[in-house]
Formats: sequence, structure tokens, C-alpha cells
Amino acid sequence: MSLLLKGGTIVTMNDRKEVLSDHDVLLEDGRIASIAPTGSIIKGRSTEELSCDGKIIIPGLVSAHSHLSGISQRGLWDETSFESWSAKTFALDSLANFSSEEIYLLHCAACIEFIRHGVTTVLDMFSAYPSGALDKVEAACKALLDTGMRGIMAYSFRDQSPDNQGVTLTSTIAEDIMVTARACAERVTSLSSRLAFMLAPSAPQRCSDRLLVLCGKLAEELGVGVHTHLAETKSHAETGRAIYGEPIVKHLERIGFLNSGLSVAHSIWLDDEEISLLRKYDAKVVHNPASNMRLGSGTTRVKEMIRSGLCVGLGTDSANAGTVYSIFEQMKLAVLLPRCVWRPENWVLPDEAFEMATLGGARALLLDQAIGSIEEGKRADLVILDLPLSLAPMDRLVSQLVFAENGDSVETVFVDGKPLMLERHIQMIDEEDILAQASSLQTRIRETQAEVLARPF
Ligand SMILES: [Zn+2]
Repeated sequence: MSLLLKGGTIVTMNDRKEVLSDHDVLLEDGRIASIAPTGSIIKGRSTEELSCDGKIIIPGLVSAHSHLSGISQRGLWDETSFESWSAKTFALDSLANFSSEEIYLLHCAACIEFIRHGVTTVLDMFSAYPSGALDKVEAACKALLDTGMRGIMAYSFRDQSPDNQGVTLTSTIAEDIMVTARACAERVTSLSSRLAFMLAPSAPQRCSDRLLVLCGKLAEELGVGVHTHLAETKSHAETGRAIYGEPIVKHLERIGFLNSGLSVAHSIWLDDEEISLLRKYDAKVVHNPASNMRLGSGTTRVKEMIRSGLCVGLGTDSANAGTVYSIFEQMKLAVLLPRCVWRPENWVLPDEAFEMATLGGARALLLDQAIGSIEEGKRADLVILDLPLSLAPMDRLVSQLVFAENGDSVETVFVDGKPLMLERHIQMIDEEDILAQASSLQTRIRETQAEVLARPF
């Protein structure tokens, strides 16, 4: 199957960061086959054509840290600390104990929201209740697949709970957790080439060293990445220091946990040495500005990280911690927030934010050979934007995309050359039906919320 996108302005994100006006893009067999000035690509007889005249084509955006299940709790709490937010969130998740069907519905609704905001690849950090419920992991994966997205199932686990006493831990030992994780990896990777698997210890201080070491070994054996929360709040950093007698990242180096396959979400409360260590081992940081701002977690030193050579991607985090499943929103907050708190040398530039939203996220997910830019040979994951008033005239396109666009202009979205949304219509799944069913779940969620609120916290 081939499709010619004709006559758009292309934000390539190639090495030269070229923005090409009046160019065509040929999509063939799921890949970008050719990019050339309009009219110069000879198309086959069976090639379909889509006019992009006056439109903008960007690489599919990447959310490198998300929890899709969080859509069930959007708007339920507005806590003044991460700790009370976390306690209530966990209590409701455990009590609700969503069925596989409910997980599928909620995750499909989240995927639709991502697609409508031009996100084509998402890392879903997912905890199954009870742990080891692989049918629930599969339901979460099925939502990614059925909506057409590219996804990373980051299977989450823990065996400690120093920063949330409300978490009930089972007596599962590290070895057993890894047996389940291995089974999960096999199940997930057998489903589709559009899905990848990562091991996701919830946070270093929530895992015994034994579990972290086994996790590192399994990741190496399976050839998969590892994703974790890192120093999200000041108390996390302090808890880590109290447990380890040294900063968390220093301890992670000591136990051999740092490498280029590791991506760390948040990473707010790190000292200079910890940032240098992450750089030394080429670990990747995933910045979640909406979540960090909403929960009052702190301000990540993004510019210093970029300057040090660290790779930084963006994430929406959970819908009940952040705002919407939109990477346009994250880009905007990533450039605006530092302007309120730091001197101009530490401001994040729009070009840097756009790179974080595309190539940076792709690198964090170990997928930069396949996605993150519009280049010949890469997977055909693209987004077409109608030219909105906010982007006209297109003087500094990338800057305007970051400061002025919110996702409303996303018109058509492709993954592997297949349309997930075409002229604003979701293609792969019955959007109306999914959203109606998901919203009918609200009654049960509200009842569970009442039970949680009746508890002492
Ligand atoms: Zn998170």
C-alpha cells in the first residue's frame, strides 16, 4: 500500500532540522519511502494521494512516560502534596480493581485523546492489580493496538513502600516478580511489532536492591529497556538518601543499574553529581512538566541536563496527575515554566522542546532508529496539521508550534502509514461507543471514590 502526501510544509527533525515547504512525502509499506519537492515523485498507479497543500506535517509526537489508567481518576482529587495524592490514587486503584474489559475501555479512551493531540507513540507504565494479572496487561496492550498506536508496555512492580505506607505489599519475593515479568514480556512482544516491552520498577526506593539487580539482569537478557520514576519529590530524594546513605543515582551506579537502556521519569531532585552520572551512562530523562506543576513536585533542571548532553524526552504522566494526554501541552509548559524561575541562560528554547517531543522521546524509548523524525526509511508515523490562525504567518514555525499550538489543529494521524485519524475522524475504533462506555464507568468510580474518602489518610 502506498500513499502520497502532496504539497505540505514538513518539519523533518532530520540532522539539519530542515523545514521543507512545498514537498511531497511518499509512504510505502509502513515506511517513509521518499521526500522530494512537490511534483517530483513518480507515483505508481495504485498510489493514493492526499493533498496537504497549505498544511504542516510533523513527526508523530512521543509521550515517553504515561499511565493510561489514570484517566479513570481525572478530576477526582486535587491534593496539596504528592504523598496524599499518591495514597488516594493507589487506594482507589486497588479498590476499583478494574476488570480487563474496563481497563481496555479506559485505555482506549486515553489512546483516542493521545491521537487527537498528535501523539503516535506512548509508554504506558502499568501496574496490574493483583500483580501478575497478565490478562489485564494484555487488555492494556490491546487498547494500544486496536486504536492503531505504537506503544511500550512498561510493566511496573515494587516490593517496598517507604514513601506510601498506604500501599499493601504482598509477600512476593523478587525472584517471583521477575518470573511474572518474564512471562509478561513474552506475552506482550508476541502481540505485535508495534508493541515493545520495558521493565518498570516503580521507583528505586520502592524496590529492594535484590529486585533492582534481578531487573537489570533480566533486561539485559531480554534486550529490553528499563523505565522508572526517579527523585520526583524532595521527600523521595530524602528517603533514598536515608535508605542508601548516599544520593539515589550514586547508589544505582554502585549496584550496576545505570546504562543507556534506562529512562528515568521526573528526575527533579538530583544534585550535580547525579546529573553527571546519568550523562556518563547515557541514561535518558523524561520530563513531565504538567504533572510536576500540578502536584507541586518541583522544577526539573532541564536546560542544565540538555547542556550536559543528557537526552531528555517528554511525558504526560497520568491524567489525574497532569492535565490532558497532550505533548503540545508539555512542550509549552517545558518552555514557559523555566522563564518564571530561572535566568535566561536556563530557559528551554522552543526548538529544544520540539526535539524533546519527537527525537528525545524516541531515544528514551530506544526507538530513534525507527521514529522521531521524518526521514526516508523511518516508520511512517506522521501528523498533519491544518494551518490554524495561531500559526499564520509561518515566520518561525517550530517556535509557533510550541508557543501557540495546543493540538486543536491536528487533522490526520498516521502510524506505520495507516491513518489512525483522518480529517479529524478516528479510524480504527468506534470512538463514540468507546467514550460512551468509558463514561458509564464513572458511576462505579465515583462510588469507589466515596469509599476511599471515608478512610482516614
Ligand atoms: Zn508516573
